[in-house]
Amino acid sequence: MTMSQEEVLNRVLNSPDLPTLPTVASKLISITSQEDTTLSDIATLISQDMALSSKILKVSNSAFYSFPQQISSINQAVSILGTNAVRSLVLSFSFLSMKGKGNFDFKLFWQHSLAGAVAAKLIAEQLPGLDTEDIFVAGLLQNLGQLIFACTFPDEYDRIMEIYHKEKRTIRELEKEHLGTSHEVVGYHVAQKWGFPESLVQPIRHHHSPGEYTGGDLDISRAIGVIYLSDLLVKILYCTSPEDYHRQFRSEARKLLGLKVLAINTILKKVHNHIDKAADYFGLKIPPTKSVEEILQEANLKLSLLNMSYEEMNRELISSKMALEKLTRELEHKNKLLENLANIDGLTEVHNHRYFQNFLDQEINRSIRNEGVISILLLDIDNFKQFNDNYGHQTGDFILKELCRVIKEHIREYDLLARYGGEEFIIVLPETGPDEAVAVAEKLRQAVEAYSFDDGTNVYRVTISIGVASARPSGRNFRKNEFIGLADEALYEAKNQGRNQVVLYSPKKKKKWFSF
Ligand code: GH3
Ligand code: MG
Ligand code: MG
Repeated sequence: MTMSQEEVLNRVLNSPDLPTLPTVASKLISITSQEDTTLSDIATLISQDMALSSKILKVSNSAFYSFPQQISSINQAVSILGTNAVRSLVLSFSFLSMKGKGNFDFKLFWQHSLAGAVAAKLIAEQLPGLDTEDIFVAGLLQNLGQLIFACTFPDEYDRIMEIYHKEKRTIRELEKEHLGTSHEVVGYHVAQKWGFPESLVQPIRHHHSPGEYTGGDLDISRAIGVIYLSDLLVKILYCTSPEDYHRQFRSEARKLLGLKVLAINTILKKVHNHIDKAADYFGLKIPPTKSVEEILQEANLKLSLLNMSYEEMNRELISSKMALEKLTRELEHKNKLLENLANIDGLTEVHNHRYFQNFLDQEINRSIRNEGVISILLLDIDNFKQFNDNYGHQTGDFILKELCRVIKEHIREYDLLARYGGEEFIIVLPETGPDEAVAVAEKLRQAVEAYSFDDGTNVYRVTISIGVASARPSGRNFRKNEFIGLADEALYEAKNQGRNQVVLYSPKKKKKWFSF
């Protein structure tokens, strides 16, 4: 079927299936072009359509405009947003609510149209003097002709879309070949018939061929450039070869509109977010839009895989798998370090109180299972307050650290030294009875007494007192805290008896589990 352009236009414009613009929208267009129209005429007209009014109020109050004050009536919307903005909203909603039939993917069409509108607005924001509201609608309606084709020539247009998805040909070429004219021509004529202003009609007409506009109106010429670029940006977002369109977008933005790199980057960076938000404001359900950066990265990856031989691809896969495993190991190691850090006292780098409690729980359980013995030594520096007062807190800290080093040299690897709090330390001696525990304690006491704490400037001496408790825990009656309490009592006794000594707790009233 080959028809002349005239024939096609005739059939389109007289088709019973030609979509109609909702009444409010078409009336609005005609009254806004009359000079004596007042804001209140416009408000009255829009208010007749309740559903439309509420949609407009919703967007007016959204971050799309981000007006500080609440807009609660159409009257207010018209006077605050201005005639153009409100007209844009009415047209946008009208367009987005048009119904079509056939197999044409209207959902995808609305998604791309909205993306075009948002892209156009973002581009226009970088160009002083352009009406971003008009530009938004022009971006939205740029492919109006496609919608018209899909409604008036549904079968032919399905066929065109089918070929378009299979072959690498442009939609315009296919439209011309199968229908004798392309969507921007049809869109242009329908928009004219609907009485759209030139600022809308011309961008629709020339959005694929900005050089062909000969009208001489500078603003319209720039608007055409913007819509042309918005189309390229939509193609970056949704077409299979985003890199080509990306390159083209950058160079055309510079050549056609004189946009600087910074401005171009801003547009590319913002566009995906703005599309998702606009979809929300306009009640369009679309999947989240990928950022241009992500799209280009993916394309780059695909391209590099495409160009690889099988062996290269294998090598690449193996090396990335190895890198991943290395990373996993490093992560595990770091996690262990971190876990350790949570169990270590910051000053002395021995285990902290929390760790001690868990450790003692475990060792008690083990003793219960094995019917074995266990001892703890509670150890406290003598007159340490005085020491701090004499030599300063920092020297005190040095003593605490050094003391831990000395103690560690005299205990077994499976004994636990922990900071109990302040200048008190606790040592857990698994599988150790009272005699042996007292011997260890005495060895520690002597070692500390004999040790010269040398910080490089001075040599200091300190002594320690140690309380010892031993037990053969039995499941039912054993209380960990009581056990620690015994060591504490013994330590108190050691202090009482003049310090620098070891005292083993000896019960006045023998506990069941205290079997010595
Ligand atoms: P006693 O022989 O009875 O144990 O006397 P003492 O002075 O050691 O006992 P007291 O409990 O009255 O004082 C403990 C002192 O330990 C008080 C505090 O200044 C000191 N101390 C506790 N923690 C730290 C610390 O982290 N660094 C330093 N430098 N001193 C500490
Ligand atoms: Mg103390
Ligand atoms: Mg003390």
